[in-house]
Amino acid sequence: MNKTLQDNMFQEIRNKEIFKQAQEYSFNYLENIFERNVYPTQESIHDLAIFDEELPVNSTKAKNVIEQLNQYGSPATTATLGGRYFGFVTGSALPIGLAAKNLGTYWDQAPAMNVLSPIGSKLESVVEKWLIELFNFPTNTSAGFVSGTSTANLCGLAAARYRILQKNNWDVNQKGLRNAPEIRIVTSRQAHSTVIKAIGILGLGQENIEWVDVDNQGRIIPESIPEMDENTILILQAGNVNSGAFDDFEIICEKAKKTNTWVHIDGAFGLWAGAVNELKHLTKGVENASSWAVDGHKTLNTPYDCGIILCADKEAMTSALHMSGSYIVESSERDGMFYTPEMSRRARIIELWSTMKYLGKNGIDEMILTMNQRAKQFAEEISQIKGFYIENDIVFNQVIVKCNSDKITEQVLSNIQMLRECWLGGSMWFDKKVMRVSICSWATTKNDITKSVESFKKALELEKTNANV
Ligand SMILES: *Cc1c(COP(=O)(O)O)cnc(C)c1O
Repeated sequence: MNKTLQDNMFQEIRNKEIFKQAQEYSFNYLENIFERNVYPTQESIHDLAIFDEELPVNSTKAKNVIEQLNQYGSPATTATLGGRYFGFVTGSALPIGLAAKNLGTYWDQAPAMNVLSPIGSKLESVVEKWLIELFNFPTNTSAGFVSGTSTANLCGLAAARYRILQKNNWDVNQKGLRNAPEIRIVTSRQAHSTVIKAIGILGLGQENIEWVDVDNQGRIIPESIPEMDENTILILQAGNVNSGAFDDFEIICEKAKKTNTWVHIDGAFGLWAGAVNELKHLTKGVENASSWAVDGHKTLNTPYDCGIILCADKEAMTSALHMSGSYIVESSERDGMFYTPEMSRRARIIELWSTMKYLGKNGIDEMILTMNQRAKQFAEEISQIKGFYIENDIVFNQVIVKCNSDKITEQVLSNIQMLRECWLGGSMWFDKKVMRVSICSWATTKNDITKSVESFKKALELEKTNANV
């Protein structure tokens, strides 16, 4: 008798060959990732053309699918897990997170409802408590586990929108925004683009933003913030995406509290400073805000994807994100979907819980402080080289570097990227082209920094040589 597709699938489960094969590839990948070229070679990118094919008519052997993925996919990854990837603000992933994610993969849980995943719900409740304690937030704060800070910002601002309109006797879920009372939005000129995007999605209108100037580190200037009221949402930053600078929460949140203003904090990578003894002065006063967005996949180094929305006004958050249906089973325990825009989503809490359990308070402290020290080391070593300039105070994990002109900076950055010994991107900093170094990996060693600084030096020398021919 001919074997059906279903027979084959049961066979894969029974003999475990493809799982072992994938596991072996993963182990090889991990073994080499710390020494490998940080950016894929031209050749491996070129070879991705193998994927340009029509959807196959017939089933492909599972073994061959995994094999193709490994042979052509692995070399075309960026080595973000390693110690010399400084692009964007990209965290690595702790071994414990990868291992837990691997186990969780086979569970394939969706923690929308307690009945759908008791373990997912349990871990979400536990981590919610841990986060509140770690950041010293109000005890009734609630947490939603989302894909990243983009979504977390959206949720925080949705809660704010719900509450402000509700206080004006306007149920936004029912009535929408047409003829709704006005909501004011105040934020800094250097607010992250995902904040601006969320304002757009929520129908609050990007044109309505009242922009506030920043100082030379990119911090909002407290004296320049307009008079606030109870219909205002003020959005602040824990960690400027270029400089890593923190807004002055102590002064600003205090003031906002008096006027009943909703303060939302975009703390994608920087909120974690609050968990580090030597750095928590940076987030002082942040607990007086109303909502906070933060990533696990950046500073905490959980695997992708892992974002968290924390909200001191649980009712506003769950009302803004609520849904129901005749088949929904509400539990007296936690039902995750009331805290996120999605119903189904993966149980990323598995990796988040495992990472926090593994590190403990002291481990979180040690890991993040080390990133801060490596950033300082980088700044120190690079400023010894003639032709490089540091453009920011190194308060957290970000270093902004420039050369003698925009043109040179651009060329040197392109040379660094071509050398592939480390990787970083460019940005604009007060109308100047700059290179943006983000130290956000548990795996970055002192030696990685020195090696990367060497690469910067080589790249500058290359630029000089080419400029002279
Ligand atoms: C990365 C980042 C975001 C976006 O977060 P995602 O996790 O990529 O969605 C928002 N704000 C700041 C300051 C960031 O650094």
